[in-house]
Amino acid sequence: MSKNALEILNTIFGYSEFRLQQQEIIEKVISGQDAIVLMPTGGGKSLCYQIPAMVRDGVGVVVSPLIALMQDQVVALQQLGVKAAYLNSTLDAASASQIEQQLLAGELDLLYVAPERLMTERFLSLLEQAPIAMFAIDEAHCVSQWGHDFRPDYIQLSVLHERFPAIPRMALTATADAPTRREILRRLNLEQAGLYVSGFDRPNIRYSISQNQGNGREALLRFIRNEHENDAGIVYCLSRKKVEQTAEWLSSKGLTALPYHAGLPNEKRQRHQRRFLNEDGIIIVATIAFGMGIDKPDVRFVAHLNLPKSIEAYYQETGRAGRDGLPANAWMMYGLQDVITLRQMMEASEANETHKRVEHHKLQSMLGFSELTTCKRQALLTYFDDHLAEPCGNCDSCLSPVETWDASVVAQKALSCVYKTDQRFGVNYLIDVLIGKDNARIKQFGHDRISVYGIGKELDAIQWRSIFRQLIARNLLSVDIEGYGNLRLTETCRPILRGEETLMLRKETKAEKSKSRGRKSKHNIKAEHNALWEALRACRKTLADELKVAPYMIFHDASLMDMLERRPTTPAQFSNVSGVGQQKLKKYADIFLKVINEHEKEQGEATGSDGTIEETLRLFRSGMDIEGIATQRELKPATIYSHLIDSITQGEIELQKVVQLEEKEIALIQDTFLTFSNSEHKLKPVYEALEGAFEYDVLRCVRASLN
Ligand code: ADP
Ligand code: ZN
Repeated sequence: MSKNALEILNTIFGYSEFRLQQQEIIEKVISGQDAIVLMPTGGGKSLCYQIPAMVRDGVGVVVSPLIALMQDQVVALQQLGVKAAYLNSTLDAASASQIEQQLLAGELDLLYVAPERLMTERFLSLLEQAPIAMFAIDEAHCVSQWGHDFRPDYIQLSVLHERFPAIPRMALTATADAPTRREILRRLNLEQAGLYVSGFDRPNIRYSISQNQGNGREALLRFIRNEHENDAGIVYCLSRKKVEQTAEWLSSKGLTALPYHAGLPNEKRQRHQRRFLNEDGIIIVATIAFGMGIDKPDVRFVAHLNLPKSIEAYYQETGRAGRDGLPANAWMMYGLQDVITLRQMMEASEANETHKRVEHHKLQSMLGFSELTTCKRQALLTYFDDHLAEPCGNCDSCLSPVETWDASVVAQKALSCVYKTDQRFGVNYLIDVLIGKDNARIKQFGHDRISVYGIGKELDAIQWRSIFRQLIARNLLSVDIEGYGNLRLTETCRPILRGEETLMLRKETKAEKSKSRGRKSKHNIKAEHNALWEALRACRKTLADELKVAPYMIFHDASLMDMLERRPTTPAQFSNVSGVGQQKLKKYADIFLKVINEHEKEQGEATGSDGTIEETLRLFRSGMDIEGIATQRELKPATIYSHLIDSITQGEIELQKVVQLEEKEIALIQDTFLTFSNSEHKLKPVYEALEGAFEYDVLRCVRASLN
């Protein structure tokens, strides 16, 4: 009974074609070979194991580290009519044992398990008695001890290879630089596996990084109001306190912003997470702990109010935006203080010296990245050994190129000031010396008598902070973290200090607001589509509430967008919408078609009132067909239909001219209407009685002839 992969993609998932290397990977695994899949977030990794699991005999066992994610995936699969289940600590004994029975009986297509359960001897022997299609190890980077998501249980997963040598295994991840990749190969015994690297680019994400000049919050609010009214988003902050303050402040401005951090009571945290998943337009303000278990596809923006610790972290956190492939924003604002705080936190940590050095190095790379005046995406991809030939055109450097200026002389002044004060002071003090502030502390140290005192009066304190930030970012100065954040010279600063090298720095633009590029119409929805878009979203929300699932499990934004584009008026047309498979067609087509049809009707009436029906009729009489009129008049075919139906009702035009039907077909339809007669002549019972042989528009025309 095995269906082929493409058929499953079309009929179950409702997608017309494979993406990236999906097809190749799926075929390999179906044929029994192992695979390592590195694909960016949103690339479509899940299908790579879900489809082989459904094609091959037996149950596909998916190892997943995150309970919340597991449950979401299973619910989403069940929505598609796939036999999927999960086993984890949230199940009671009876439910767990029932699922184990289904596993043994081979009644499941997919079973998600947490690694710690999989590794028990009891479960492994259970698996030995069950028909297994394949193993998928999701989030495979968790085997890496160097990574930020290390899970000791993952290391033991090599057992699968020893106990089930004949069963194909896949390892999947979105975050793997070369060392992590090698670790996955080695630890999971996947040296022989096919390696599929789809690149790291997330073209739909727009990266913008700007410098905090003391107005971070306002800038964030402006960004949200300008570009993300009513959108779901995540705002990351470094500390719990800042999370609380930011959430409160955004709420006071009328947004729905909920805090999320490890210090909140469990119940509250869960409630906020649930609201984020299940309601539209919620903003979560969180520490970086948030998001690991979140698979929400329609997060439209990720904002950082602080600098992430590394480029990996930045990539992963921003990667939570736009999984559905629709446009999304990764917005960040940071300042000098972030660097100092982060360095202090790292120094204070319990980690050993080697680890601290690695962390320091990563932070330094992140800083360098943030200050770049060249394409951010190119740099990001280069960092992951990936490659982009041309600047992307969708990052801040590309969209609003930064001016640079020769800062060699001011840099020398700043560096000398650090040197002349014995590398023992922090930024604020250094700036006071440079601009020649008259204060007691400076006098106490006698720094009002040294040569650098007051040599920097041409710039103000804000400008000096920007200079210092950039000097640190370029590793010309380092933050000494013994607790006070004093700055020290590094080896690399010598040529600048000696005047042997020019230093170009970015010119800071004063007002970030002038930079807003006004992507106001989110998802690029045209204004005339807005009403229908909102109606479709409302319909989805009602259904989701009824079924107690997240709205995106009914349909992703991408599917609603496709409905806007296609304006389906019949179930057959509806089935062409991306993300509509058999199950969703059956369950939701009528409901959404009704929303669309009502909308079209209103539009038709609205446009009909200014004499436009006559125009349609004139063109129709001149021999044009419905498609042709629609194209010429830039209206939807459904609108043209409604004009013609109007004319049929008025007796201005003959039914046979509009529908290409024989007499006896028309009679059949008319009879059916009369058989199912109710006062409004509902379409659906007739459509079903005729087994879908005639499209809704045709039925509507025939119905008009009855009046
Ligand atoms: P990943 O796990 O790689 O982050 P997912 O598997 O969650 O990505 O897929 C991201 C989104 O892309 C999902 O909404 C999924 O349904 C959709 N998708 C995956 N493959 C295809 C495809 N071939 N055509 C259209 N949409 C797809
Ligand atoms: Zn770019």
